[in-house]
Amino acid sequence: MHKKSMGHFLCPVCGREYDSDEIIWKCTCGNFLDLIYHPEFKRRKIEQREKTLWRYFEALPVSEKSSTVSFKEGFTPILRSNLFGRDLFLKLEFLFPTGSFKDRGSSVMISKIKELRVKEIVEDSSGNAGASISAYSAKAKIKCHIFVPEGAPEPKLSQIQFYGAEIHRIRGSRDKIAEEARKFAKKLYYASHSWNPFFLHGTKTFAYEVCEQLGWRAPEAIIFPLGNGTLLLGSYIGFDELREIGIIEEIPRLIGVQSSACNPLFRAFHENLEKLPEIEVRKTIADGISVAKPVRWKQILKAVKETGGEIISVDEEEILEALKELGRNGLYVEPTSAVALAGLRKIEDREELLIPLTGSGLKLGERMKEFL
Ligand SMILES: *Cc1c(COP(=O)(O)O)cnc(C)c1O
Ligand SMILES: [Zn+2]
Repeated sequence: MHKKSMGHFLCPVCGREYDSDEIIWKCTCGNFLDLIYHPEFKRRKIEQREKTLWRYFEALPVSEKSSTVSFKEGFTPILRSNLFGRDLFLKLEFLFPTGSFKDRGSSVMISKIKELRVKEIVEDSSGNAGASISAYSAKAKIKCHIFVPEGAPEPKLSQIQFYGAEIHRIRGSRDKIAEEARKFAKKLYYASHSWNPFFLHGTKTFAYEVCEQLGWRAPEAIIFPLGNGTLLLGSYIGFDELREIGIIEEIPRLIGVQSSACNPLFRAFHENLEKLPEIEVRKTIADGISVAKPVRWKQILKAVKETGGEIISVDEEEILEALKELGRNGLYVEPTSAVALAGLRKIEDREELLIPLTGSGLKLGERMKEFL
């Protein structure tokens, strides 16, 4: 069997390149790295495989099948639905082993980390990413440290602990916690969902699935809840590759929705800012997208602009209403997931839309009562 090419790392700031088998998580200039990767595959071969995200093996940056760390996740259902009087597609991303789409990124990233023979990793997260990376680390027998803010939702912390990861509680802002994690990662490997490019090459499987499930075509627009942008950027990469291969002609409009309590990307987009604005973060029920300084913010804005997308901001009231609308239709998700539907109401009804429902309401346990 011939070996597939694993691509290379590229620093988007200084342009340095590295072999993608090097055990590094940042450029010598300090910036994060991108993985430049050009997959090749045959549709017919893929269609015969098991319905998991690993059916796109040729598109995933892992050399050996034996490296895969998987719970047979992915290929989540797409439903036709009508919400707030609008026809749309929903993709049920809360049906993942750990309860959120983050498993796409974790499965691919942890598989690669296992292949690189890394034994101990660090991540910082207030919830779903930490839980997801902990679960896959447990399966791969990799030691995992998760840095969390004080006040992170307790049910998610229990989940992380059940998977056997070591929790480090840090007081301070999310940026401070990320900084502490990176300091800790000087000697270890930083397996961050927002920094690590392998994570995005896992979330890109969202685009592959959407395309295949709709009959190898793309919808006109997709609306995402937007924090660090891992699902939006992964989708951009995925659709871009599908375009390069010649399966689709155009990338869908990528639309991000933020909570008005924390909307740096909304402001940068609409005010055409050269720098991320310093914002004061207010409390929001959409805690999963409360990210004041998304590290890949420039890439997010570029992807949104290039695809003719937009960034929308919604209030707490609007998120609550969307959450309830979903419940009334038998869909129990966490408030962060309702943000995209809240944003839908601010978009003209003229195109075929798809919304991912990103995380399960079951993850919040008793806390969901507050939103009734
Ligand atoms: C992480 C997460 C998001 C936001 O994704 P980003 O990659 O940070 O933009 C949305 N919903 C849920 C449930 C999440 O866990
Ligand atoms: Zn660099």
